Amino acid sequence: MSLQPCDSLWRASAPAAPTLTALEQDLEVDVAIVGGGFTGLSAALHLAKFGVSVALVEAAEVGFGGSGRNVGLANAGLWLEPNDLDRQLGPEAGRALYDALAVAPDYVFGLIEEYNIECEATRNGTLHCGVGKAGLTQLKRRCEQMQQRGAPVELLNTADAQARIGSDKFNSALFDPRAGTIQPLGYARGLAHAAVKEGAQLFDQSPVENITPDGESWVVKTAKGSLKAERVILATNAYGEYGVKNEARKFVPIFYSQLATKPLTEEQLKVVLPNKEGCWDTCTVMSSFRMDQQGRLVFGGMGGEKHYHASWASQRVKELWPVLSKVEWEFSWTGKIAYSEDHLPHCQQLQRGLFSVAGYSGRGIGPGTIMGKELAEWFTGRRDSLSAPMTTLRDIPLREVKRMFYEVGAHTYHVGQRTHVLD
Ligand SMILES: Cc1cc2nc3c(=O)[nH]c(=O)nc-3n(C[C@H](O)[C@H](O)[C@H](O)COP(=O)(O)OP(=O)(O)OC[C@H]3O[C@@H](n4cnc5c(N)ncnc54)[C@H](O)[C@@H]3O)c2cc1C
Repeated sequence: MSLQPCDSLWRASAPAAPTLTALEQDLEVDVAIVGGGFTGLSAALHLAKFGVSVALVEAAEVGFGGSGRNVGLANAGLWLEPNDLDRQLGPEAGRALYDALAVAPDYVFGLIEEYNIECEATRNGTLHCGVGKAGLTQLKRRCEQMQQRGAPVELLNTADAQARIGSDKFNSALFDPRAGTIQPLGYARGLAHAAVKEGAQLFDQSPVENITPDGESWVVKTAKGSLKAERVILATNAYGEYGVKNEARKFVPIFYSQLATKPLTEEQLKVVLPNKEGCWDTCTVMSSFRMDQQGRLVFGGMGGEKHYHASWASQRVKELWPVLSKVEWEFSWTGKIAYSEDHLPHCQQLQRGLFSVAGYSGRGIGPGTIMGKELAEWFTGRRDSLSAPMTTLRDIPLREVKRMFYEVGAHTYHVGQRTHVLD
């Protein structure tokens, strides 16, 4: 795996991270964390806030993984429909996880305010945009299930959805006013500043090479230093493919690529997402679209760069918004999503004191922040358990075949895709 950060819009526009150094000493702390994404940083921040001595080591730089590369849709809940959560976990545990993540946007935007995190936080809600009959059916079902659980969501009719999106290619949209958009790398770097302010020790450019038991403790070893701790959190998610225990084998890595335009003109901005809600669609191979604060359209779709052609995106954008007939792309980048087989995040106690939390399956801003906080609460006796299931996951058989299946599927879909006809 290359540790070269990607050339994303987020990296070009995020405020700086705190100045960190590589770990070049042997430290003893209560909790050691591996991975500087939302999960690890939130755990570090909350543990430090609760007075626990904590150190975090990141292989590359803060937000190097999914946390610095994502779309920035700070949504409530998970990808799964609420009834599927109940079916998989049972009504009690399903509801507990649902409730914990329903308030995730409140918590994320609350942290942003509390620590003055500069991350283009825009709480205008998000739109899940309906395409075709199947899309409308799906949105009706989701809306009903969410409303049954008290969520203030609203299913917009065709006219309202089209006005909000600025495109006549959608027949409906599920509006969630709890959600919003953030500049994800700005949020990750802001969490790092907050963690440092609370007293956590953070190190970058420090890939963990191995973790070995030492009596009641663990020793987390990097090239030039080590952390000795009774508890270790592996927060490496889809990027944990090297060093330490190979957690990534328990998830299928799905590539997702994004392109960002140059800032749109005043005329175009009046048409394209005039209220700046973050959006994604109901298509089998999903696309996402949102604005940044400089008026760039950020357009994403499943598939790695190789298969995610700017020409496909240009055509699709032109179909959706004819006013963008000559779109100029300024940035393009790709990230890796860790899909668990049941699309749920999982916490595992691999051995006594050695924990791993991962598998957000494409929704990790709220869940990663909440899981980090819950780990800190659990370790300090503030709660009895986590909202996510505690499981033992096995390596996924035929993982590479499954990854290729998604990749080829996304490619074929993009190549074959033409304007969706509303029916
Ligand atoms: C393209 C894309 C779009 C997405 N869009 C959204 C969205 O709009 N909304 C949403 O809620 N979620 C979204 N997600 C999901 C979300 O970004 C992730 O779930 C979340 O960032 C996971 O955070 P994390 O902290 O668990 O892992 P990561 O952010 O991936 O962090 C893991 C870190 O571990 C480090 N690491 C790995 N191995 C080692 C080692 N040996 N030693 C030290 N460090 C190590 C890596 O360098 C990395 O920085 C998206 C993901 C992607 C990739």
